[in-house]
Amino acid sequence: MSDFVFPPAPVTGLPVAGTAALFPVRRVYCVGRNYADHAREMGADPDREPPFFFQKNAGDLVCDGRFPYPTMSADVHHEVELVVALKAGGRDLDPAEALAAVFGYGVGLDMTRRDLQGEAKAKGRPWETGKAFAASAPVSALRSAAEIGHPARGAITLDVNGARRQSGDLSQMIWSVGEAIAHLSRLFPLAAGDVLMTGTPAGVGPVRRGDRLSAAIEGVGTLEVAVA
Ligand code: MN
Repeated sequence: MSDFVFPPAPVTGLPVAGTAALFPVRRVYCVGRNYADHAREMGADPDREPPFFFQKNAGDLVCDGRFPYPTMSADVHHEVELVVALKAGGRDLDPAEALAAVFGYGVGLDMTRRDLQGEAKAKGRPWETGKAFAASAPVSALRSAAEIGHPARGAITLDVNGARRQSGDLSQMIWSVGEAIAHLSRLFPLAAGDVLMTGTPAGVGPVRRGDRLSAAIEGVGTLEVAVA
């Protein structure tokens, strides 16, 4: 067994509600435009697009309730999303197999440098600078599917400084959790530790330093984040 030339980076661990154990994160995938009303607000036709995916980095997930406003952007948006954490993987899963691979669920924010994402879209460039920056994914503790089941309906909301900005229902997802994971498993071999952020309902908008973000998903949990 060879030694590393320097110590490897630590594994990101997400807290699991009711336990002292951490969920070890491998990869973070995100579904684009998975609620019809958000697809429309972004200028897309929700009826004509198959699901598409992008990635964040495992280390972008943060659980300390703090979102440091990133560099190089003057238009950072909130996107509240159901977070799905996998305990198993595989390729070419069907939706039932995909659901059986789910460890649990959390509440997350797909924070987005909208100005950089818009520039990338216009120029046909990749989205990483807009999506996969440090601390770009504040998440709650996970709750296991053994405890809460597989939520397919329930309110998903985001308040900024006490005012409702985003409001939808999990039942409005164009691709269900099982369907989205099944699609993803045809593109990438999935494994235990993979995390999927499942898209956001309409109402995305900018945040400012000092804002307090309060996200909630019925039956899953809540997430409080301060923009620092
Ligand atoms: Mn998103």
